[in-house]
Amino acid sequence: MKPGLSTRCVHAGELEDAHGSPHTPTYTTTTFKFNSTADLLDVVDGRKPGSLYTRYGLNPTVASIEQKLASLEGAEAAWAFCSGMAAETALFLTHGRKGIVCLGDAYGGTLELLATQLPLLGIPTHLLLGSDMSRLDEVMSQGVGLVFFETPTNPALEILDIHAIAKLSHANGALVAVDSTFASPVNQTPLALGADFVIHSCTKYLGGHSDLTAGALMGSTELLAPVWNWRKNLGTTIAPEIAALLARSIRTLPVRVRQQNATAQAVAEAMMRHPRIARVLYPGLPDFPGHALAKKQMAGFGGMLSIEVKGNGEDATRVADRLKLFALAPSLGGVESLVTQPCTTTHHGLTPEERTRRGISDALLRLSIGLEDADDLIADLNQALEYE
Ligand code: PLP
Repeated sequence: MKPGLSTRCVHAGELEDAHGSPHTPTYTTTTFKFNSTADLLDVVDGRKPGSLYTRYGLNPTVASIEQKLASLEGAEAAWAFCSGMAAETALFLTHGRKGIVCLGDAYGGTLELLATQLPLLGIPTHLLLGSDMSRLDEVMSQGVGLVFFETPTNPALEILDIHAIAKLSHANGALVAVDSTFASPVNQTPLALGADFVIHSCTKYLGGHSDLTAGALMGSTELLAPVWNWRKNLGTTIAPEIAALLARSIRTLPVRVRQQNATAQAVAEAMMRHPRIARVLYPGLPDFPGHALAKKQMAGFGGMLSIEVKGNGEDATRVADRLKLFALAPSLGGVESLVTQPCTTTHHGLTPEERTRRGISDALLRLSIGLEDADDLIADLNQALEYE
């Protein structure tokens, strides 16, 4: 019988240690020695598994976190990177050179890479939003190698149908990558729904404490094999110290995320009842447009929600500035609750028209729910909403 997710979070990939350590030791060394040239060549040529050089990922602590990461998504393999952006870059350069389609809204760094930087290398990219998505068939016929999307999206929490998009993409000969950072493996496992790759910014829920930067790419051994060389020579492998910290965090991932799901639901429901709130965007609310799909493809609705203050962007800024327990900071997924106003941070570079096209009003505030008590978070929002 396959162990459950919580068991895998604690035990998957952990190395047996001669001294009886209950978890993988941290090998901070950059290189590993051999008894003979023949032994060295066995590892260099891939005839035997072993440690060699840390930037290659051939380090026991790195290999250990990669086994744990793969097991979380039910993947054959995983590569661990020094950031989420590094994972995306290696994937795009390996499997996206024929062309990449990005569906729906995405993290600003991803959009910049796709819209501005990859085209400089001659890689065709297509960014399809909202009603443009009906053009997917037409764009695919131009010969696209990779379809990429986030679900839920940032910051409108739109839910994209992983199974349907994977079916259509595969019929057109394209591979499918899902950035599942907002959901975490506790709430969503895209490979089981037909995706070829899952990406995580481990900086968020997997790290969970706002104290590490890392990324992961999961998928089949065959599709991940060529990504290894790109990571090796781009030099974007995770550091062993960070791999050990990430493993420490993943051991508590399910308890953290399930609590964050429950608290986010309570905060969303309280904000729905607040007279100064115009809209609450949270997949766990029955009236939310993506609710039925989220129920089908997710095991939990997540710890992220957005609220739209009645009024304008300045009113929302006032609320953000009056919050005391929520910290004003542009990340997510940690134990401490955070607030951001997308028009001043993640979507600041876009014109107001472009933000409107993405369903992001200036009065929108994005909340990342941490592990504080729901009543304290709701009280903080209530007091911040009492502005003159
Ligand atoms: N994907 C999503 C959904 C993100 O929110 C972020 C960062 O905010 C990234 C990827 C990039 O991750 P990192 O900051 O670890 O490079």
